[in-house]
Amino acid sequence: LRLGKFLVMNRRERTFTAIKPDAVHRGLVGEIISIFERKGYKLVGLKLVLPDRKLAENHYSELRDKPFFPDLVDFISSGPVVAMCWEGKDVVRTARKLLGATNPLESEPGTIRGRYGIDIGRNVVHSSDAVTTAEREIQLWFTEHELVDWDPAVARWVYE
Ligand code: UDP
Repeated sequence: LRLGKFLVMNRRERTFTAIKPDAVHRGLVGEIISIFERKGYKLVGLKLVLPDRKLAENHYSELRDKPFFPDLVDFISSGPVVAMCWEGKDVVRTARKLLGATNPLESEPGTIRGRYGIDIGRNVVHSSDAVTTAEREIQLWFTEHELVDWDPAVARWVYE
């Protein structure tokens, strides 16, 4: 019974994923959402945002000393950004795999960045790099009532 409960809790992992302004301008929003949907993940939060500089700086605060930080903040706050929260088993790690390596030069061709990106500063998507980062980023971008708890009818066809 305890194992059963663990397995159900395991499916409740959440990550913060964002479609960056380059991808919104290029009309890749539907395509990127589809990749997560078809994989079997559950969308629990979704909105189009024009982030202010404060939000962009806060989101990337760990990178504030990097030389590319000012350009990164300019780019993200130029918007629009599609902010998403996805839920499911191992979603943090799997989302990073779906995205591919940070530099599109190194991303596998089947990944989102591998398929749609060329330059590192226009790499199409973001997704949290760890469960603790995901918790921080979800709180930063969403309020509690913007996250929807629901049960997809197909769950038993996605999970064994
Ligand atoms: N970035 C950049 N130049 C670099 C390294 C990173 O413009 O030399 C940007 C890039 O868009 C990346 C973001 O900064 O997605 C955050 O960098 P991080 O190392 O956290 O990579 P990520 O977690 O996005 O793969």
